[in-house]
Amino acid sequence: MTQFIDINDMQKLVSHLGVAGFIRELLSYIEHDFQRWEKFDKSPRVANHSEVGVIELMPTSDEALYGFKYVNGHPGNALHNQLTVMSFGALAETATGYPLLLSEFTLATALRTAATSVLAAKYLARQDSKSMAIIGNGAQCEFQIIGFNEILNITNFYLYDIDTQATEKVLRNLGHYPYLNLHVCSSVDDALKHADIITTVTADKAYATILTTGQIQAGVHINAVGGDCPGKTELDANILTTELAEVFVEYIPQTRIEGEIQQLPADFQVTELWQVINGQATGRKDKNTITIFDSVGFAIEDFSTLRLIYDLAQKYHVGSNIALVPTPENPRDLYRLLVQPE
Ligand code: NAD
Repeated sequence: MTQFIDINDMQKLVSHLGVAGFIRELLSYIEHDFQRWEKFDKSPRVANHSEVGVIELMPTSDEALYGFKYVNGHPGNALHNQLTVMSFGALAETATGYPLLLSEFTLATALRTAATSVLAAKYLARQDSKSMAIIGNGAQCEFQIIGFNEILNITNFYLYDIDTQATEKVLRNLGHYPYLNLHVCSSVDDALKHADIITTVTADKAYATILTTGQIQAGVHINAVGGDCPGKTELDANILTTELAEVFVEYIPQTRIEGEIQQLPADFQVTELWQVINGQATGRKDKNTITIFDSVGFAIEDFSTLRLIYDLAQKYHVGSNIALVPTPENPRDLYRLLVQPE
């Protein structure tokens, strides 16, 4: 039987740990899998593009487990009161191919994106960072705030969105937490004034320029989340090439196609985050380095998340068992399951 986790089950799983606790646990799963990066079979995700969006499949496996996620990105959906990003995922035994888990992954994607952003900042941002600007206050925003507060103790958040209703929604959801100082800003410049960390998490299928070089102070960490697809970027390319900048990515073959670095020549020097985590590469050089995490989302992060969902579902007895694959008495007699012999 296959474990099935729907939205209600996911809500139950998260309620056992709380959103902050779930992100903390997830960060440790992702960090563990990044530490054993070389054990994974990896490839850039398979993307099917249309004029208005993209649908992607993201597979990876190690010797025990295989995982994949289906995810879309349709910025125009918001105009019709629909989600921009939706997802589901599966985990299977590598040895037999039998599926172990089929799970909702829209909520899970927001949780894993926050956990990955925080993981990168843990290794790259200045240790004395206390504040973060968030440009783009849509579906991912609250998860980012909770993750950065829980793990890195960021307490001041400077919020800016072209749609003031998005920022108001964040205040409604998180404004009552006394340990979070949420500041509503009237422009990107206003949001950046006091920020040690800058998160860009906007949605627009375009070469957008959310940040330009003149706006970036020495020593900041940029968590660039929204540019994650060919023809969809957020940073002025000059930010990436400025002398103080060091760019970090998840998986170079995928990020060259999808990340901010798609704007630069294919030999532009970047470092994979797992190497910094393992001590094989330098992260931040000094307090003036501008560290940039050019995030696009990689399959190993989803694999780690599927592992956590599976482990928690077993521990808390959440979800249902479904017959996703047939179990005929004789595996060679599949036909008999449809038609009883005379
Ligand atoms: P969303 O549509 O819910 O929110 C996007 C927000 O960005 C909206 O509130 C919109 O008004 C705002 N925005 C658009 N242009 C802006 C601009 N120029 N300045 C300020 N705000 C602007 O989308 P979401 O689910 O929050 O996702 C945000 C982005 O993150 C998407 O592009 C998505 O593809 C990407 N994403 C990346 C990862 C990753 O792993 N890197 C994971 C999930 C989502």
